[in-house]
Amino acid sequence: MRERTRSNELFAEALTLLPGGVDSPVRAFRAVGGKPIFIARGEGAYLVDVDGNRFVDYVLSWGPLVLGHAHPRIVAALTRALQAGTSFGAPSPLEIELARLIAERVPSVEMVRFVSSGTEAVMSALRLARAFTRRTKIVKLIGGYHGHADLLLVQAGSGVATLGLPDSPGVPPAVAADTLSAPYNDIDAVKELFRAHRGAIAAVIVEPVAGNMGVVPPRPGFLAGLRQLTSEEGALLVFDEVMTGFRVHPGGAQGLYGIRPDLTTFGKVIGGGLPVGAFAGRRAIMELIAPSGPVYQAGTLSGNPLAMTAGIETLRELAEPGRWEQLSRAAKEVAEGLSARARAAGVPLAVAQVGSMFGFFFTDPPVVDWEGAKRSDTQRFARFHARMLEVGIYLAPSQFEAAFVSTAHGEAEISATLDAAERAFRDEVRR
Ligand SMILES: *Cc1c(COP(=O)(O)O)cnc(C)c1O
Repeated sequence: MRERTRSNELFAEALTLLPGGVDSPVRAFRAVGGKPIFIARGEGAYLVDVDGNRFVDYVLSWGPLVLGHAHPRIVAALTRALQAGTSFGAPSPLEIELARLIAERVPSVEMVRFVSSGTEAVMSALRLARAFTRRTKIVKLIGGYHGHADLLLVQAGSGVATLGLPDSPGVPPAVAADTLSAPYNDIDAVKELFRAHRGAIAAVIVEPVAGNMGVVPPRPGFLAGLRQLTSEEGALLVFDEVMTGFRVHPGGAQGLYGIRPDLTTFGKVIGGGLPVGAFAGRRAIMELIAPSGPVYQAGTLSGNPLAMTAGIETLRELAEPGRWEQLSRAAKEVAEGLSARARAAGVPLAVAQVGSMFGFFFTDPPVVDWEGAKRSDTQRFARFHARMLEVGIYLAPSQFEAAFVSTAHGEAEISATLDAAERAFRDEVRR
């Protein structure tokens, strides 16, 4: 049994000062019936906890750390940036550089506005979409998570779903009333919403690869269907690439599937582990944002020089030859390995992998939407999670989250993971 004394002491202390002992609900391990592990440091593919245990990390700060923890290039660049000051409240060349790197890689992006979180990016992008179209309704897909803004805490997957909250107290019904939802991967259901609300829908927002109900890739034609439908109906298509941006493809999910959304939101990877978000898109739409236009949006720490630096170095490092191949090979190896070992043990497992993200549900494949994801045996997942943790493999403490690899995940980490999974699947069958 791994020692968790210090973690448990800290958790008890945290509970007296932080609601639930954490600063974000999914960190609390409630869905798997354990206690969170307190982390002392990260090293490449590993987390090291306050009791000195090492874990191969598949959470990677919930996606951002595509180069692993404390990558030397990021640490060196941040150290230099730190000496030059932590925030200016005035423009710096770094914002231009990161915007240029994003625009070069993602074809639909002509202009960018940086903010400090994914939530903020989405909230602002939808305000902009409503202003541009002069319409109020927003369509989201069930099980899609787009941050915790009031208007989007409707049928919102992972954190919300894990806690069994259909939405949240404190969200005025009037605010949520303009948010319509349809099942993921169901283009006919979205068409039906457009028929029922003709001329009223400002935008459809979608995770182009759903990653907050577990990983659910788009069915062939689904994203193209949304593109065609929104164009015909005069609505905007917003890709929420906070998770998928620079995770599933060097050009984001839109690069992978060849779809041009009107607006895109980013976060996670583009901040290289520092707090960042961005919304971006066509010039004609983006120029409505203040001060070039009337749509108000602002932020004290927006475009923060440390965050810009970490983002710039992350995107540059990802562009080095072989990095993408290495990343997607690692994710593919883990995903296929899990699938094969579950099959050999006779455990039903639906596995999905796109680029450097993957996920698995304890149910028969395929899983194409939130209804399907909910079929997963969460008790089984909780036991699997505990067994993996016990032997040093750190997975997100919820069935409905994605897993990620970094460029620091090599053969040693992958084979340790698959060996551990094989034993865990066998134990599961022997129960
Ligand atoms: C993480 C995430 C968000 C929210 O980003 P925060 O930085 O946590 O506010 C929004 N959309 C998607 C798709 C995400 O994965």
